Amino acid sequence: MSAATKLLENRWDDARAAAMSEPERLLYRSNLLGSDKRITNFGGGNTSAKVRQADPLTGEEVTVLWVKGSGGDVGTMKLDGFATLYMDKLERLRTIYKGVAQEDEMVGLLNHCTFDLNPRAASIDTSLHAYLPYAHVDHMHPDAVIAIAATKRSRELTREIYGDEIGWLGWRRPGFELGLELSRFAADNPNAKGVVLESHGLFTWGHSAKDCYETTLRIINRAIEWFDGQLAGKTAFGGEAVAPLPAEERRRIAARLMPEIRARIGQNERKIGHFDDSDAVLQFVGSNDLQPLAALGTSCPDHFLRTKIRPLVLPFSGDVDAVLAGLDASIEEYREGYRAYYERCRHDNSPVIRDPNAVIYLVPGVGMISFAKDKATARIAGEFYVNAINVMRGASGVDVYQGLDEQEAFDIEYWLLEEAKLQRMPKPKSLAGRVAFVTGGAGGIGRATAERLLREGACVVLADIDAGSLDGAKSELSKAFGADQVRGVLVNVTEEAAVEKGFADAVAEYGGLDILVSNAGIASASPIEDTTLEVWNRNIDILATGYFLVSREAFRLFRRQKLGGAVVFIASKNGLAASAGASAYCTAKAAEIHLARCLALEGAEAGIRVNTVNPDAVLRGSKIWSGEWREQRAASSKLQTDQLEEHYRARSLLKRSVFPEDIAEAVYFLASDLSAKSTGNIVNVDAGNQISFTR
Ligand code: NAD
Repeated sequence: MSAATKLLENRWDDARAAAMSEPERLLYRSNLLGSDKRITNFGGGNTSAKVRQADPLTGEEVTVLWVKGSGGDVGTMKLDGFATLYMDKLERLRTIYKGVAQEDEMVGLLNHCTFDLNPRAASIDTSLHAYLPYAHVDHMHPDAVIAIAATKRSRELTREIYGDEIGWLGWRRPGFELGLELSRFAADNPNAKGVVLESHGLFTWGHSAKDCYETTLRIINRAIEWFDGQLAGKTAFGGEAVAPLPAEERRRIAARLMPEIRARIGQNERKIGHFDDSDAVLQFVGSNDLQPLAALGTSCPDHFLRTKIRPLVLPFSGDVDAVLAGLDASIEEYREGYRAYYERCRHDNSPVIRDPNAVIYLVPGVGMISFAKDKATARIAGEFYVNAINVMRGASGVDVYQGLDEQEAFDIEYWLLEEAKLQRMPKPKSLAGRVAFVTGGAGGIGRATAERLLREGACVVLADIDAGSLDGAKSELSKAFGADQVRGVLVNVTEEAAVEKGFADAVAEYGGLDILVSNAGIASASPIEDTTLEVWNRNIDILATGYFLVSREAFRLFRRQKLGGAVVFIASKNGLAASAGASAYCTAKAAEIHLARCLALEGAEAGIRVNTVNPDAVLRGSKIWSGEWREQRAASSKLQTDQLEEHYRARSLLKRSVFPEDIAEAVYFLASDLSAKSTGNIVNVDAGNQISFTR
């Protein structure tokens, strides 16, 4: 919506579409629409088609409404994301409906209209599609159209831009009544191609999938062009009050603020953070109109359900310490405001108040921080606030922007049906909301550990010195667990500045830290007379000093964050049991174990637990065991290298081989609340070896 905004492209491919069934064409259209966030936001909007199909029971041809079901995202959904309902039964519902008091009941009745035992639950928006006399309907949330819908004069502006082609309906919460209003509008205006819904979004329709798609695009493009003309040469948001700081400085400040915010909002439920300093955000947070516009709240229900109705503006003017000094008060003031909103708007049967903390934190000159129960939710909340910024930019540039009425917002936020949806959500995984930093994360044990923690819902930062392996591990784990969950930082654990930067990067990505797994390592073997000073120093540097440096950084963060913490050292059997011909390695590993004990002592009062896992002979997946260490170990036992695994198995008390996953399991135990009452411990994972029994 600034000069020279790119218009939406028509990406419909006739040849592809011709080979599809009607439901497939609906899916094709939905995915095309949802692939551009200017057309609709993540999870926002829905699409439908009324399709003639054989009834599975009678074989008779019936009309079936295919409409995006509850949850899901039009851009990424599959065919199973659509609910299917008999149109004749949906028509019968109109005879049952007596008025708005019955809204919630009507949603329950939708289940009785299910076609073909489809398990996908019908959404609250189903009736908005069902009663429109068109085979194809799109309901989208384009920023450019919501910007019109969120102005005081939205009715007049809609008319000015679209004439009779697009109608306008005043705000109404989605449900049966709105479905009937839409139906009446379409009947009264047979030439209209759609409707702008005040403070909400756009409906468009057509007689074929292609026709509907093209209308949707054309209507949105017209809004984009109109705004381009209107806003050309105008200053957005009343002009700049605070200039953006340089990029590195912004990130540094975010990394300082985020753990402090997390400390204050994460006591009951750990939160993951997201930082956005895109141009659109910086323009808004640095503007003269920031305070008044932020206070008005967001308009589209989708926006505020994700972001809460209002953000928290942190009064930053160059002095981070001043923000930190006032942070308790800022956060408490926000909570009080939220509690007051709840009290003002609650009904007798409203669900109990939810987390009163802000989701969105705006920092002039720096950017936007968002916090939610997991990374994807925090990121998406940020994206939604960017949608809201775009809407405010457009709306306030052409007229007066208006947020959604507070009571209406409350009635959506605390809708009993919304509450029921929340209650149905699966229990969070044991490490949901936790952030883990795993050094040597690209190696055998580190990667298996990362995988184990990811399986439990943690966000994992892999830190390694080996760029190639790091990229590989990161991309494979991202594929398996989602890109939001995994980050990689290139770090040499022996370098103080690199370690500090690695942690700062991790914090700017996720907002804090809960778990450190210090695992980066090497191995070497040589008799003492042949051990060069270089080899000695290398072992001490990576294993002893490296473990010290990462622990110190984690401790600093844990203390600022005040949420406790778990540190797990991957040491070695060789740290407990002397081994001939590897004194440098053994000594450095012993130093690790003793460091862990000292840190357990120091950290306890702050809830920081420090424990050690001692692996032994984990050959598979280990880079250590693919190098000369393997040859040296084989030689010292007078074996071929390929006999080693069997040799170690046979040597163990339990006669079992030890794999990286076995070490990872012990790390998970010590990193999670399963071991909440253990610190200063050592767990050997070596299939049993008397010389490493602890005593
Ligand atoms: P690995 O070589 O597969 O993984 C170690 C990782 O650490 C590698 O990705 C490497 O690039 C990284 N690394 C090395 N130096 C680094 C540095 N300076 N900064 C950052 N990263 C660095 O080995 P592994 O078997 O997975 O070993 C992991 C840990 O387990 C090590 O501390 C090792 O001493 C310990 N350990 C392993 C065994 C075993 O049998 N594999 C036994 C006892 C202890």
